[in-house]
Amino acid sequence: MLFKDERKRRANDHSAEASALSAPPNTTGATAILEALGDGVIGVNIDGRITYINPTAAEIIGCEVTAALHKPLSSVFRLRGDTLYQLEPAFIQTILRDKQIYGPVTSRHLLNDQQQEISVNYSISPINDVTAVILFHTFSYDEPNKTNLLYQASFDQLTGLPNRLTLHHTLNQLHHDSQAHANQYSLLLLDFDRFKLINDCYGHFAGDALLKDGAAVMTQHVRDEDSMGRWGGEEFIGLLPETGKAVAIEIAERLREKVADINVSVHGRQLSTTISIGIATFPDDGDDVDSLLRTADVALYEAKRAGRNRTFTSEQVSGNIFSIATRLEDALNEGRVSAAHQPIFDLQSGQRVAEEALARIVCRDQGILPAASFIEAAEQLQMAHRIDHQLISQTILRCSSNALAGGATIDHFVNISADLLRHADLVKSILDLSIEQCNKCGSLVGDTKPLVIEITERELLGNVKEAKRQLAPFLDFGLRLAIDDFGSGYSSLQYIADLPITFLKIEGELIKRAPYEQRVRAILQGVQSMASNLGLTTIAEYIEDERTLDVIREIGIHWGQGNYLGEPELENTNLNFISVPTPS
Ligand code: C2E
Ligand code: MG
Ligand code: MG
Repeated sequence: MLFKDERKRRANDHSAEASALSAPPNTTGATAILEALGDGVIGVNIDGRITYINPTAAEIIGCEVTAALHKPLSSVFRLRGDTLYQLEPAFIQTILRDKQIYGPVTSRHLLNDQQQEISVNYSISPINDVTAVILFHTFSYDEPNKTNLLYQASFDQLTGLPNRLTLHHTLNQLHHDSQAHANQYSLLLLDFDRFKLINDCYGHFAGDALLKDGAAVMTQHVRDEDSMGRWGGEEFIGLLPETGKAVAIEIAERLREKVADINVSVHGRQLSTTISIGIATFPDDGDDVDSLLRTADVALYEAKRAGRNRTFTSEQVSGNIFSIATRLEDALNEGRVSAAHQPIFDLQSGQRVAEEALARIVCRDQGILPAASFIEAAEQLQMAHRIDHQLISQTILRCSSNALAGGATIDHFVNISADLLRHADLVKSILDLSIEQCNKCGSLVGDTKPLVIEITERELLGNVKEAKRQLAPFLDFGLRLAIDDFGSGYSSLQYIADLPITFLKIEGELIKRAPYEQRVRAILQGVQSMASNLGLTTIAEYIEDERTLDVIREIGIHWGQGNYLGEPELENTNLNFISVPTPS
């Protein structure tokens, strides 16, 4: 009752705003735009009645503009199917109350005045407390109208498939329906194998052609009731309503085989590709959308590890990665992800000049897990940015408290994942903390800061331009950049040419071989000479004994790090390391 009175009051308060969409159409300004739009637009009030309808909407539905005005929305915009999707007043009121855009909802069937079914995509947006707008267009996968606003916001331009935003919505709806009706459903995560390699070797044109053909083939070979979409990059998703695991595997295998048959001709060469697929099924693999996505992601990761071009379900995944995911989630939530610091020395003077922060999970049983046992899984599970944020924040505070206590100024190296750079909110939070602490320490704007970002070539792979753009906020602030694990297999001199690097950290496995192999020493000599000419500081990793130290020093490598010089140490702890195998 209270709600009803409040609604009446609001309706009066907002009568002026509401009239914006109920005013008789004039042909100037905003109205002219609405009248000319290729999308259907319907304004609806809090009682679910139509206050405005543009000519495109009237044409799609097959009604007169004047006849539709003031009618209940659900009697004009008639959707076939589940009552959940019927646009009754109570539903409109929920949207207005929650101030949340509903949709985009794709491939729904609208009945026109001839009782024919038309496939439409639509969204409902609250524009104030008492008015909502339905934006819609007709849709056919064969001939999408790419000029529609809703199309552009909801579909991937390259493949024409629903984009991540739309898929999230469709998935949430599928989950909601399946829960309500106690139905199973399955989701497939499909990822093109070695896609970056194809892009690097044959150019983006070739990669795009494969994605486009792959998307078309996948759409053709799912059932009518299934939805395929582009989840991002080279990753796609398939949503299979009322489908248990056995049928999901059959469908996934069919898609995998059909994609493997694709041949794309690029510069006279025939290119083919394969996909790996991870499957999750509701309710067996999780009660909510996030845990199902995570399960599918883990299964996909394991399919890749097992050699690619295969389908994996949760049953084929070793418990290990699930247990890493759970351990990591708990550790992050309970503040048990911490930094161990490994010293870095100037090899000529013997001075401690820097240290590197390395992630550790402090277990409840007081054991410590080194980064090597969880960082790769964290990257796959899209959790690495959270670790990076933790570690960098801790390092900034350690650095400022050391400076304020009058400690010697040293550089602080932190490792980051490409994942962090994609999270603008975390980047901002790191910069805000840096500014705050620099102010405390009296560091001036424009000064070089003691924090150094380490990024591996693996993380940079394929898109230096993009990495440069994403790194700009850090570099503009005065942080410096190190390439980590240089020489570990992806070495491209282009990174050195294109990125504003200060440090080159040479991969440990190469350093370990230096005392025994003349060829390796010659390579290191070459790297050292190139770095010196470019004014870069070189750092050798994995110095494990005196002999290696002598050889590295002789070659002229500037700085060094390794267990012989100093192992990583957690602050204020005398806990013992436990050995945990890297997931296999
Ligand atoms: P990295 O950055 O190259 O770090 C060096 C790794 O070698 C560390 O392993 C370190 O403990 C280990 N190490 C140091 N000295 C020696 C030695 O003399 N011999 C040998 N065999 N190993 C040595 P850790 O801490 O397990 O880290 C592994 C990798 O995980 C790191 O390699 C880095 O790429 C990544 N990582 C660590 N912390 C983070 C983090 O906070 N964020 C991200 N994104 N990655 C991290
Ligand atoms: Mg490192
Ligand atoms: Mg390294």
